[in-house]
Order: sequence, then C-alpha cells, then structure tokens
Amino acid sequence: MPLSDPLPKNYDYREVEARWQKIWKEEDHYFQENSDKPQFVIDTPPPYPTGEFHIGNAFNWCYIDFLARYKRMKGYNVMFPQGWDCHGLPTEVKVEETHKITKNDVPRQQFREMCRALTIGNIEKMRASMRRMAFSIDWSHEYITMMPYYYGKTQLSFLRMFKAGQIYQSNHPVNFCPRCETAIAFAEVNYSDRTTSLNFFNFDGIEIATTRPELLAACVAVAVHPTDDRYSGKGGKTLKVPLFGHEVPIITDEAVDPAFGSGAVMICTFGDKQDVLWWRTHNLPLRKAIDKTGKMTDIAGKYVGMTSGDCRKAILAEMQEQGILIRQQPLEQRVGTCWRCKTPIEILSENQWFVKIPHEAALKAAKEVKWYPEHMFLRMENWIEQMEWDWCISRQRLFATPIPIWFCKDCGEIIIPEEADLPVDPTVDKPKKPCPKCGSTSFAAETDVLDTWMDSSISVLHVTGWDGSQKKPPLFPAQIRPQGHDIIRTWAFYTILRAVSLVGGRPWDQILVNGMVLGEDGFKMSKSRGNVTVPEEILSQYGADSLRQWAAAGAATGSDIQFNWNDVVAANRFLTKMWNISRFALMQLSREPYNEKAPITALADRWLLVRLDQTVRDVSDAFETYQFDRGLRMIREFAWDVLADNYIEIVKGRLYGGSGRDGACVAIQTALNSLCRMMAPYTPYFAEEIWSAAFEGSVHKQHWVDFSYTDPQALADGQMLVRIVNEVRRYKHDKNLALNAPLGTVTVYATDLIDDAGDGSLALNCTLKYMAGKPELRQVTTGVSFNMGIIGPALRGQAKGFMQAIEALPKDQLGVLPKSIMVGGEEIAVPEGSVIPKMSYTVAGAAVEIITAQDDLIITVEQKE
Ligand SMILES: [Zn+2]
Ligand SMILES: [Zn+2]
Repeated sequence: MPLSDPLPKNYDYREVEARWQKIWKEEDHYFQENSDKPQFVIDTPPPYPTGEFHIGNAFNWCYIDFLARYKRMKGYNVMFPQGWDCHGLPTEVKVEETHKITKNDVPRQQFREMCRALTIGNIEKMRASMRRMAFSIDWSHEYITMMPYYYGKTQLSFLRMFKAGQIYQSNHPVNFCPRCETAIAFAEVNYSDRTTSLNFFNFDGIEIATTRPELLAACVAVAVHPTDDRYSGKGGKTLKVPLFGHEVPIITDEAVDPAFGSGAVMICTFGDKQDVLWWRTHNLPLRKAIDKTGKMTDIAGKYVGMTSGDCRKAILAEMQEQGILIRQQPLEQRVGTCWRCKTPIEILSENQWFVKIPHEAALKAAKEVKWYPEHMFLRMENWIEQMEWDWCISRQRLFATPIPIWFCKDCGEIIIPEEADLPVDPTVDKPKKPCPKCGSTSFAAETDVLDTWMDSSISVLHVTGWDGSQKKPPLFPAQIRPQGHDIIRTWAFYTILRAVSLVGGRPWDQILVNGMVLGEDGFKMSKSRGNVTVPEEILSQYGADSLRQWAAAGAATGSDIQFNWNDVVAANRFLTKMWNISRFALMQLSREPYNEKAPITALADRWLLVRLDQTVRDVSDAFETYQFDRGLRMIREFAWDVLADNYIEIVKGRLYGGSGRDGACVAIQTALNSLCRMMAPYTPYFAEEIWSAAFEGSVHKQHWVDFSYTDPQALADGQMLVRIVNEVRRYKHDKNLALNAPLGTVTVYATDLIDDAGDGSLALNCTLKYMAGKPELRQVTTGVSFNMGIIGPALRGQAKGFMQAIEALPKDQLGVLPKSIMVGGEEIAVPEGSVIPKMSYTVAGAAVEIITAQDDLIITVEQKE
C-alpha cells in the first residue's frame, strides 16, 4: 500500500504565504462591538508615513502581533488598530524636494494639499508591507491624523485644556531648531558630545571664559559668587562689553562656581538653560542676537546677517586683533541638538503655546501602569522628576494641526471657536461672532501649528472612543501600549499627561517597551554607515515567518536587537525541521486508521505528554509576561529535541506497526496539535499550513492550548529511557555501525527498573534487558595491540618476531607484561608503551562489552562471537 503524502516534500514559503494572504479575511481581526468577551485594546504606535516600513517598525509590530494573536486565542476581544502620524517636517521637506519648491513658493493651502497627497501614497505602500508580514491589524479601526475626523479631536483636546487653564501662551525662552525653523520641546532635544574651544578673554579688566563668543552682543550681565574675595565690593558696578560697548551690571549669585577660571561668567540671552535661570531670577533685559534662522540680528552690529558659526570666527579674530584674547583651550562639551535634523539648538525667547506639566498626577498615573520590562519605569520617573520647563506645543511650520485660535486685531483678545465648529483652520475660517470684549470683527489668525505629539498623544483617547461628550471614553483605559524605549520621554509621557488632563486617569493598564534594531555591525542602522537591512530583503529570501522569528528570538524584551542574518537562517531552518517532523507525523497518522481514544500507557508516550505539558506551561507564561524570546525557544526545544530527536526515534518501530501504535499516534497527534497553536502567534503562515493539513478550520480561530498532563514517574523514567537510547546510539556510531544495525543483547543496570513497553528493543534493534543493581563484572585481557611508532624505530628487523612472541603468550599473562622476552634465542627488552593490552569483561562467565559505566547507569552488550 503506497503511503499517502499529505504534505509536499519541501516547504515553499513563497507559495504558502501568498496563498494564505489571499484566503484570510480582514474581518477576522475586527474588534467586536457589544461582545461578551473581555476587551483587550492595544494603543498601537502610529508610524510616520515615509513610504517605507523599516525594520525597526517591523520589529515593533511583530511584538504587537504576537500579543494580539495570543490574546485572541485566549478569548479576548482584541482591538489592534492602525494609525498614521502624518504631520511633520520630513513630509514638508520631501514635498519641497519632489516639486522643486520651498514652502513659501505656493499658497499655504496648496502646500498642505501636496503634503496630504504624498502621505496618502506612502500609507498605501506601507499597508502592503504590513499585510505581507501577516500583522493581524483591525483595518476598520485605522486612523490618519491629518484627516479632519482626527485633527478635529486634536483641536478639541487643545480647547478643553486651554479652557481648563492647562494650556497658555507666553513669551518664554524655548528650544529652537534654526534648521527646522521651529520651536521644539525639551523631549525633542538630544545631547551629543563634541570638542569645542574655551576662549579666555579680557572683559573690561576681568578674565572671562566662554565657548560662545558670538553671543557677546547678547551679554546682559557678568556674574560672580557672593563670597569670592576677588570681586568683593564689585557687585552692582558695571562693565563695558568688549567689541560692542554696552554696559552690563556685575551681579552675585550662589550658582557661580568660583573655582572655574577667574570665577566670573557672562550671562547672555541665551547660551544655555542656566542663562535662562539667571535671566529670570535677576530680572535681566532680553538681548536677542540670533534669529529663528540661526543668523545674527541687528544688535550684532557689523556681524548682522552672519550665521552664528561665521560670527564666532569673526569675533575671535577681532578679539585677537584687539589683543584681548588671552588664551584658548579645547573643551569636551555636551551640546543639545534637534532630534530630527541633529542641528545644535538655540534657546530663543518667543511667543509660544505651552502645556503645564502636572508632575504629581502624571507620576501617579505612570506608577499605576504595569511596565514590561519593569526597569523602563525608571526612565519615566527620572524624566518627570527632572522636568523644569512646560511643554512647548507651538511649531512654526505648515503641515500640522492648526492651532484653533484668532486674536482680536483691536484689543488683542484671544478668540476660540465653538467646539461644534471644529475642525477649523484659522487662516481660512473666520470667527462666527464679533470680539466678545470690544465687538471688533477684525481678527488675526494664529499661524503657528501644533506639535505633532499633540496629535499622537491622544491616540489612546481616539481608539477608546473619546469624542469629548463623555467624562470617560467607553473603552478607556486601553489594556496595553507597545512602543520603543526611544520615545518614553515623548509619546509615552505626553500620552499619560493628556489622559490625566482630559480624562483623569492612566491611559493603559500595561506598557510593553521594545528595544531598537541595530545593524549587523552593532551600530544604529544608517544609510551613511551602509548597515541598513530592509524587511523586503528578508521577506523575499526567507519569508515573513522567518522575519517574525528573528524578531522574537533575537533579544530579550526591552533589549536592543542586533540584526543578524544567521538568526534569520536559523529561523528558516527551524521551519524546514518542523515541516519534516509534521510531514513524517502526518504520513504515519494517515497510513492506516488508529483509535483516537486509545489510552496512553507506554512510557515514551507518557514522557512526551509530560514534556508537552511543561512546554505549554512555559510558553503560556512567556506570552503572559511578553517574553517572546523565551516562548519561541521553548517551542523549538520541544519540537526539535524532545519530539523529533528523541521521541520519534524511540517510537518509530511502534509507529510502523505492531501493538501500541494507537498510543503513539495519539501522542504525536496531540503534540502536533499543540505545537501548531503555540506557533500560530509567531509563524501564522506556517502554523496555518500545517493545521489545515492535519485538522479542521483555521488555527487562528482556535483557543490557546488547553493541555495538561501530570505524571512525575514518566518524567524521570522517560529521561532514563532517552539516556539509554542515546548511549547505545552513540556506541553504534563510535563502532561505525549503522543506527539500525542489529546488536544482540543489551543489558541495562540501573537502580530503578523502567518499563519501556518494548520501545527500547525496537528502537535499537537489539534485545534490551533491564536489571536492577550493578553487574558483577570481571575484567579479562583478550589480546593486545601494538604501537608501531615505538616498535618500528626501537626493534627494526626484530619487530615482527617480537610481536609474534608477545601474541604467543598465554592470555592471562597479557594483563601484566614481562620486562623482557625471548625472540629467536635473544632476550629483548619490551619497549615502554609498545604493547597495549585489550581488556574485556565478563558477567557470569559471558563476555560483554561495556557501552557506558556511570554511577547510576551501566549498559553492557553481549559479544556476538
Ligand atoms: Zn531641526
Ligand atoms: Zn477685541
């Protein structure tokens, strides 16, 4: 009877993945309104629609999909929404490049329209990548932040917080990127180290050191420590600023370090955060030397219009010329840079909009969230505790949510729209009523727009159904927020802040923080380094299920993950192995009918189920605590080591026929069924393919594995059986015997007898006997072997005669050789190490060979002669 072949010989992921992608229905992943199941809402990250779903995204989304699929199988009503965080500078820049314009060449509305068109195209490309990677996204809950239905909510949230006094407008120093020409928030400032020069110069008789001579025009005071003797009595006096000539006061402040240089520092508006502090405490005037584009202003006199870098060089040259530059020394410095474009930031005082930081309430909410991994909470705690400035939310850009504000041209009153009229663009729309204060109908629009984080920080409100009409959105709080550790200070913090301010509670129950993807060389991926790997490359060479396994197995949750092709290849190899296991199993199960209700009695079968029980518990626990690497490792170990390398090898004989086939079939079927379910979140295509060949329906509609089996004796005895079989197989291998070569009688001596139901004999092609205790072994010498490397050079022509004489000795003398021996009438000394006795053993008079002799296990095989 020919074997039926339920699966083709090789696993063709290209064909399989394309086929299932067509068959699967998106509706299967939809969140069910009015369901009895417990909700599991995921506040997924809305990626920036660049058009390329990069490997960092892929990594992040793999985590989300693992947990979404797992929770669905656990019976939750899962919402896996997909947002798109559209607004921002990169799109503006791309539009400028594509259309060869600058944003000021076309009307504001037209420019925004160009940005929108580009974004829509990019989103379409990224959706295709995400489908290919089998992310089980609920596309009925997609949101696009540039659409009126979404940015209307951003504006509503702005108005609500403005009315509540949580948002205000103020002329206040802010971090400013001269390249992006916009204010940015502190959370968007990165710090990098660089070497700069510290310049000591004569400041009207006092030595002062500065790294920013170009700010000399913005100098408003010189500060010294109040107890510094060098300056006693100087407080309140004035000094003349070199090169510029304006007078500035000498002030005293505890914060000045008298040990640094001459102990005197100049205060400029603004060199750094400390300058801002002194400026505020001492009520100093504002002198603005650098404008929004990083160029010098009028007060810089002849340097006006220069970039700050050019101005620095020019001022140092002039100091040199005037003989006031005393010396220069290199200085290691941490400099704040714009997180998007890496340009060093300036601190400028501008009229901006701010959100007040509710430190305590935010920290309380952050504490109520369960953090995975736990230590990531510290980053949030540190950030909240060290925040000094409010969140600057206004940006001087175009493609963003407009700030819904007008100003009365006659009295300056701030005019806000009715909530029902949202969304509005104040540069297009007009207030519907005259100014409530003076009755004027002449208005100026706020042209600043909102920080993109103002959009994305209400993602959780949007997905939980917030529309401003309820105190608490219907699905609020969400169950989990998955995100990278690079945006804890921004997205995670802002979301908590907004949830606390608008709803009054924590936004999610849990947060799952993933690491960053590094290149193969261990460095951050970047085009200039040439270490970028794109998901499409992995997909086309190894398929989505291999990419997904890489994401799971490559690093512990929360840790950065180095991209490594070897991990992808290993993932692919596992699929091949699993395919072969499944194919073998299905062939055996289908060759003839078996009793699916047969009781499990044989030791090997019980052992397999005990190990399966352990694996199911470990994998479930790993999913519950989002340790995806551990879960996958457990699955691989079980499939590869336990099932394939040990169990199947042991029960093969029983599967081919004879008694006990039913039990083995049931055990294998159970293991395969559980493996498919456990693999479904990791490798959805592969698991579905095997499942559909072996079982009914879709694996993704199944409940999570609900299997338990307790049998401590089977665990211990099964391990012993595995040991015995492996020892004998190793023996055959060492003897150059085929693994199925017949082997006479093998006797196992162990403390406890096990009953292997005949599997050992069948698997090893021998008669396997079990004996309690230890055998009485007697050692005998059965012959010798010669070391020709010693005999040849030592005995030359006499070598042959020597060996014959040794072999002629009685066997019982071979154990202890004589010192010399007669060869052809001549006495010859036996060279050291030239003769090696061959030892053998007997048990009860029968010659045996020892396969292994360990403390608790001795295995002998009876000689065949
Ligand atoms: Zn920038
Ligand atoms: Zn007015």
